Amino acid sequence: MAETLDWRRGEAGDLILAGARVVDPASGLDEARDVVIRAGRIAELASTGSASLDGAERIDAEGLLAMPAFFDPHVHLRTPGREDEEDPETGARAAAAGGYCGILAMANTDPVVDTAADVVALRERAAAEACVPTGFLATATRGMAGEELTEALELRDAGAIGISDDGLPIASSRVMRRVLAYQGLHGLQLALHEQDPELSAGGSMHEGEVSAELGIGGWPSVAESIMIARDCELAAYESARIHVQHLSAASSVEAVEAAKARGVRITCEATPHHLVLTDEALRSLDADFKMNPPLRTEFDRQALIAGLRSGAIDCVATDHAPHAADEKAEPIESAPFGVTGLETAFAVLHTELVLPGVLPLDLLVERMSAGARAFDFAQPRIEPGAPADVVLFDPAVEWEVGADGWESRSRNSCFKGRALTGRVQLTVAGGRVAFRRRSFALGVAS
Ligand SMILES: [Zn+2]
Ligand SMILES: [Zn+2]
Repeated sequence: MAETLDWRRGEAGDLILAGARVVDPASGLDEARDVVIRAGRIAELASTGSASLDGAERIDAEGLLAMPAFFDPHVHLRTPGREDEEDPETGARAAAAGGYCGILAMANTDPVVDTAADVVALRERAAAEACVPTGFLATATRGMAGEELTEALELRDAGAIGISDDGLPIASSRVMRRVLAYQGLHGLQLALHEQDPELSAGGSMHEGEVSAELGIGGWPSVAESIMIARDCELAAYESARIHVQHLSAASSVEAVEAAKARGVRITCEATPHHLVLTDEALRSLDADFKMNPPLRTEFDRQALIAGLRSGAIDCVATDHAPHAADEKAEPIESAPFGVTGLETAFAVLHTELVLPGVLPLDLLVERMSAGARAFDFAQPRIEPGAPADVVLFDPAVEWEVGADGWESRSRNSCFKGRALTGRVQLTVAGGRVAFRRRSFALGVAS
């Protein structure tokens, strides 16, 4: 990925992924090839069995998919403040295990990331520890209080990738307007957690039939879509651009579609959990299904899938949100919002959407890395000359999401116990092997 992301660089080894089924959505390529990786770049897509390169490691990839590695524009690394839940090293390892070659971390840490010095400190930590390129957003408002703007020019110069108060909305329309106007000076992408705090007050799950039956406070979908509609209006008025995080509702997809149709500069994301699960999961009273925004209805889920298919929703983001087990063991009302997701994202969507024929594989692959473009990075490609950001995925492996075995320091997955088909076996980021599944056969030198 681009140089502005930080990671533990180092010598890139040469590799041949022999006989992989190469899927590159941008060129429409879907064919078995030998992928030759040399000096950190894709050197060649040779016909099967023909590639050789002195000193390269040869990996038998027959029957495996070789795809552009994924990019997640929305993760929580919990550093500083909650390194017991995640840090740049473990978060990046979790990302690599899920097939990611780039991640962007949110700024709602403790304390929040709202000064240039905070950004520099995190970048240094990622440069020392992270096995995949990692970027950091800073908050849009000081202390995430939603009142005073941060010094986005200084934050940008310190290397912040964008600004966001994720975790909280910017409730005041007046402050939001100023944030958008200021974007003209710094140009950083603004990522938005959309939630009207008055409409969602007291809500632990989606407001609907299930919350009524369970007697749990609801957070209605209109609390999200009303804010998206407001911010589309303001972005248009100030000629600014926005990236809307984790869409959860049909009405939100409609708001985005309407804005895009009239030329508002907006991109947006959906998470695997909102694409696969509904509020019915809360009947278990398991707080690993408590996230913000909440899981909604089957109607909303179908609208998100349709939006992903049509391009109204630009990309998949995990909103990987690690939490300590004892805090998630609390009752639904008092447990924190958030679920992990980096290590299961692609396997879940492959199992639930691609294999049943709901989404074509190449479309999902494209959406898994399109978040890069929303933040001005080149989207990973498998083509000669491109940086070697490649994931090898075995589409036939069957496995069950376990309670253990995570690279992440936390295990609050909402897919625990689920049977999945397909698993990431190897991730190459910038030409370096960032992840290799232990059970995956080692290659032999050519
Ligand atoms: Zn959020
Ligand atoms: Zn988030």
